[in-house]
Amino acid sequence: MSLPRETYPAEYTIFEYGTPGDCAYIIESGSVRVSSYDNRCLAILGPGALFGEVALLDQQVRTATVRTIEEAVLIRIERGHMEELLRRTDPVIRHLLKILLERFRANYLGIHPPARNLNSHSDQLQALRTLTLTRDLSYALDNDKPTLYYQPVVDCVTHELIGFEALIRWPHPTQGMIMPNEFIGLAEKTGLIHPLGLWVLQRAISDWATLRQFCSQGPLMHPFVSVNVSADELSDPRLIDSIFVHLEARGIPPHELKIELTETVVIENRESVGDMLQALAGRGIGIALDDFGTGYASMEYLRSLPISTLKIDRSFVQDMTQISSSDEIVHSAIRLGASLGMTVVAEGVENEATAKRLGAFGCHLAQGFYYAEPMPAMEVAAWVAQAKRSGMLDR
Ligand code: C2E
Ligand code: CA
Ligand code: CA
Repeated sequence: MSLPRETYPAEYTIFEYGTPGDCAYIIESGSVRVSSYDNRCLAILGPGALFGEVALLDQQVRTATVRTIEEAVLIRIERGHMEELLRRTDPVIRHLLKILLERFRANYLGIHPPARNLNSHSDQLQALRTLTLTRDLSYALDNDKPTLYYQPVVDCVTHELIGFEALIRWPHPTQGMIMPNEFIGLAEKTGLIHPLGLWVLQRAISDWATLRQFCSQGPLMHPFVSVNVSADELSDPRLIDSIFVHLEARGIPPHELKIELTETVVIENRESVGDMLQALAGRGIGIALDDFGTGYASMEYLRSLPISTLKIDRSFVQDMTQISSSDEIVHSAIRLGASLGMTVVAEGVENEATAKRLGAFGCHLAQGFYYAEPMPAMEVAAWVAQAKRSGMLDR
């Protein structure tokens, strides 16, 4: 965007204290005097200086009067331009900027903010929640407070328990249980995702040492624990070493761990993800493509990556028995996975009719509320016993 340049004569008033402000200026040449409401000189500014930015950022009146001393060429920055930049900024940063400006106006100029409208109030509440959650999350991590739940993954045909997907939960001391969709994004933005991801892997591997006793060793299928990993985590060079250190410490073979990456993450990070996946798969760890069907990965591309498992997104599985296009998509995905030699998992199985249909399609594995909701590791033994009694799981 090109910014307009304007020439002003000497002793010209650019703007006056107390008037509405809708632009800021950068001095290209010449000089200006900045004075207070009672005409005290606050500053003399020359080439390169910026002025008028305070009113631009918080949409209130000018906090000073500015007059040229000699002829000056000024570059004008319009409010729209600044707003566009601010709009693209993180809401927390926007909120902090607003607080700083209010404090500046109150402390130095004695101007207090006007009553807020409802909209900005809810923005503020959201920003404050984000800020406190970020602080609490970093404290929770230092104190081992997040927890992992485990959702069983069941063989569609033999009804044996084959593995678990680890899903993070954060029991917040005052706000109740916070689900991953609310804090994983936050952890990514703040960099907390790195310690968080390492914690998840370590905890899942150590819990698996106990949970694996509940799973069956099929002729074609190894029991496994599956861990979700986000794009940012993969950029951490410590990740791979840390995985192998924990596996070795617990005596767990690498093929009993699967790393889940969503199809969108894989497509959007083609270059960086490829090497990392090769390094993991080369040492025996399973790679699962999560939310398959939502990201338009081409067959060609799928074949180029060391993916061993396709997880069909729950949006298709959930309504496959009602909507024929979903049914067809699930069926094609199962055929595609089989033709590429991959294990296929259907996510989001919520009823018996869906489970049966998946079995008829030759789907290998399934998970969903029909079998069980994610649960703490401590509750797995009781669930297995009950599921065997009811015939949900093979005895
Ligand atoms: P996801 O990997 O697709 O995980 C499956 C989500 O579907 C889980 O939500 C699970 O509780 C839910 N689900 C399972 N069965 C059913 C069902 O039958 N019906 C319905 N409606 N939902 C079902 P959750 O635990 O809230 O996790 C949401 C997402 O957060 C996960 O989606 C995953 O992308 C992310 N996530 C979870 N744990 C971690 C983690 O440790 N690290 C990272 N990076 N991401 C995680
Ligand atoms: Ca997953
Ligand atoms: Ca998924």
